[in-house]
Amino acid sequence: MAGLLAARVLSDRFDTVTILERDRLPESAEHRAGVPQSHHLHTLLPRGQRILEALFPGFEADMAATSAPLAVWGLDNAFYTLGGWTPHFDSGITTHTAGRVSVEWLVRRRVAALPNVHILAEVEVNGLVAENGRVTGVRMISRATREQSTLAANLVVEAGGRRSQAPEWLQALGYDAPEETVIDAHCGYASRWYEIPADTAVANKAIAVQTRFKQGLYRGGGLLEVEGRRWVVTLLGANGDYPPTDEAGFLEFARTLGTTAIYEAIRKAKPISPIYGYRRLENRMRHYERLARRPENFIVMGDAAIALNPIYGQGMTAAGLEALELQKLLGRYNLGQLDGFAAAFQKRLPKVTADAWTMATAEDRRYPDVEGPKPDLVTRFSNRYFDWLSMAMPYDNRVTQAFFEAMCLLKPAKRAVLHPRVVFSVLRHSLFSRKQEAPAPAHLTTAELRAVR
Ligand SMILES: Cc1cc2nc3c(=O)[nH]c(=O)nc-3n(C[C@H](O)[C@H](O)[C@H](O)COP(=O)(O)OP(=O)(O)OC[C@H]3O[C@@H](n4cnc5c(N)ncnc54)[C@H](O)[C@@H]3O)c2cc1C
Repeated sequence: MAGLLAARVLSDRFDTVTILERDRLPESAEHRAGVPQSHHLHTLLPRGQRILEALFPGFEADMAATSAPLAVWGLDNAFYTLGGWTPHFDSGITTHTAGRVSVEWLVRRRVAALPNVHILAEVEVNGLVAENGRVTGVRMISRATREQSTLAANLVVEAGGRRSQAPEWLQALGYDAPEETVIDAHCGYASRWYEIPADTAVANKAIAVQTRFKQGLYRGGGLLEVEGRRWVVTLLGANGDYPPTDEAGFLEFARTLGTTAIYEAIRKAKPISPIYGYRRLENRMRHYERLARRPENFIVMGDAAIALNPIYGQGMTAAGLEALELQKLLGRYNLGQLDGFAAAFQKRLPKVTADAWTMATAEDRRYPDVEGPKPDLVTRFSNRYFDWLSMAMPYDNRVTQAFFEAMCLLKPAKRAVLHPRVVFSVLRHSLFSRKQEAPAPAHLTTAELRAVR
């Protein structure tokens, strides 16, 4: 996604943009080896959808044409928070809910149609070519013939995802690898796809169930209706409490979340996929912005630079924000003289993704066995505040609206959840109303499930 979006914005300025992709690219919306995360629930946040619409006018109509449902946050999405279910109200925030392969396919189709963009598939990039402190191209190997070749370029953008080899490529040229910050709450996903039963009691297009630290319950999950009247269900376990990938274990794990809503929805539904597991979900920031020495004309973006625990569904939107930053910054440079551009771009990345990073890492630092720097006072206070907020959400539309705006990256988190009126509501609720977390209901009946809206 980051590579495709970068290609879209680069195509405005450069004569030719070439995308190098290791996989064979399918002719339609299909899973492929290079993106194993596509088997898991992928939320395109409203901010991400707006960015895609801005970069590819008509994109939302493209999504609608794939039968991706349109969800209104508050009306169609139910969150089970520490205080219970979020209220049923119209937040005015909408998104199409679709599988990752559909979103990527729609983007790739648009990018491939750009006259100056070329996609070379089944080639693996395995190094950089450099001269006099400047990257001048890449080395690559054909997966079909194993032939090694090089491709010259004025600017090289690495967007190879979480397993990016860019640190090794830099070392091979005599530069340091970037320092890394890793915050790992030992989270794991297990996901399965279902046909939505005709008589389902689920009225929502999305259900999300939060983990409950204080009750020692490190399990959560999500259910998302996607195109083709299917559900994708992802179970999440943190602190090493990984969800199992066998049939009975998967269902039992679903039954033991804070609410049985997801379990009740799927227990009689027809599975249409195996159960997929995923365990490398740590937050990892590779600090390219801190490099003391770097070659010119080489930048790194997307998960290759800043990978987030996907629990908040921010990765594709973060890639969109980074692409917009690339567009903006490049607009200030003459393409014949890009000296300083790489350093300036890398410095901007942690800033444009700051809210996403803070949200994902603050949450992960609550788990007892988390690896990484200890939370500072501000993080500890903000976690406490989010607990209060989460407990107030079921009783207050304004508080829920503020949470949605921050989570969807529509407003800076500070402006949304720290707005004085929101702070007042949260404090009033926490001081004078409910002080207890909603007890985890042992069982949710079909009638109750129908009532969750
Ligand atoms: C389990 C899971 C669930 C997620 N859920 C969400 C979600 O709900 N919402 C959301 O927005 N984000 C989610 N994400 C994150 C999201 O997938 C990524 O943040 C987003 O795709 C941007 O990543 P990227 O483009 O940097 O890398 P990727 O999407 O991983 O793409 C990397 C590409 O580079 C190719 N490649 C790699 N190495 C080479 C090489 N040497 N040569 C040539 N090609 C190469 C790969 O084949 C692949 O096509 C999730 C991630 C995971 C792991």
